[in-house]
Amino acid sequence: DAAHLEAFDHHEHVWHGRDEARELNAIVAIHNTALGPALGGTRMWPHESFEAALTDVLRLSRGMTYKAAVAGMHFGGGKAVIIGDAKKEKTPALLEAYAEMLAALSGQYYTAEDVGFTLADADFLRARTDNVTGTTLGGSGNPSSVTAHGVFLGLKAALRHRGVNALEGVTIAVQGLGSVGWTLCEKLYAEGAKLFVTDIDTARVEEACRSFHATSVAPGEILSAPADVFAPCALGGVLSAETIPSLHAGIVAGAANNQLARHEDARLLMERGILYAPDYVINAGGLLNVAAELSPGGYDRAATMEEVARIPETLTGIFQRAEADRRPTNDVAAEIADERIAAARTT
Ligand code: NAD
Repeated sequence: DAAHLEAFDHHEHVWHGRDEARELNAIVAIHNTALGPALGGTRMWPHESFEAALTDVLRLSRGMTYKAAVAGMHFGGGKAVIIGDAKKEKTPALLEAYAEMLAALSGQYYTAEDVGFTLADADFLRARTDNVTGTTLGGSGNPSSVTAHGVFLGLKAALRHRGVNALEGVTIAVQGLGSVGWTLCEKLYAEGAKLFVTDIDTARVEEACRSFHATSVAPGEILSAPADVFAPCALGGVLSAETIPSLHAGIVAGAANNQLARHEDARLLMERGILYAPDYVINAGGLLNVAAELSPGGYDRAATMEEVARIPETLTGIFQRAEADRRPTNDVAAEIADERIAAARTT
């Protein structure tokens, strides 16, 4: 359909892995390897159709190419989805079958955690194939806390760009209280921000209200919550022509991949005067962390955190260029990535 044709953007390879006996139905998409081998996590999600899963993995893998390029990394973009409910259908047999699929892609694609895919899963795979990062088996563990740290720094850079230099009293609407959203809340709360929170998991919401004195909001109402900043930390596609008019916040800065339903939707944000921190720029911390495992000297946390600390500077440069040129911030970010990819191709 039109959505996945739009997402099918010169991908280099797309593999469909099907093992009926072990109930594996997975897609691995490699978008671009001009800058290096493809790196990107595995998502397990009960997509309503194969086409929906394909659209998801095509968009996610393209996002990884841009994420690595803007962060100045020597990696390309790839991503995997396993179609299924991670809570009910993730069996050892399914993971065995998926490990075999990954092993066949060794050298071309490195995976890590994503939504529905845990540290335990990464360890299980790493015991069977070498192209798995974010593990405890000689790796750096789950990257989400590093992602959250980068988002935290990036969110503060967006506020600074708008002349706000402290979090004290700033209101932030956090959508999704999973690994990244939760850690982000901890950091925001510690510096005095006031939180509105939502999740489809009500126990998580109740816990956040207790832990962070947060105000709970129904999932469908988080965009219109009276907050200064909207931090999407659940799934993608939350900002669209339909939803942007109801957004209250003046800043969007969150962890979710593919926050915009369409690339062009960033223009709608700009026209409403909303500052958008491009998702793949602000959420690059996790990728920087897992990529560090593959560096010749092995994982070095201090060096990785220095790279993560450069996310605000990168974002500020994008905000300034976008403002000077009167262009959406994600156009500027994509241009930076395209220039780096083109330069790598010519060399
Ligand atoms: P997670 O699975 O731990 O958390 C996602 C949370 O969102 C869950 O608590 C889930 O219940 C909630 N959720 C799902 N649909 C929702 C809805 N409609 N409304 C409200 N809540 C909803 O995932 P995570 O690792 O925290 O990642 C969150 C987002 O950040 C994802 O989009 C992921 O791709 C992106 N991301 C994560 C990392 C990382 O290091 N984990 C890195 C970069 C980007």
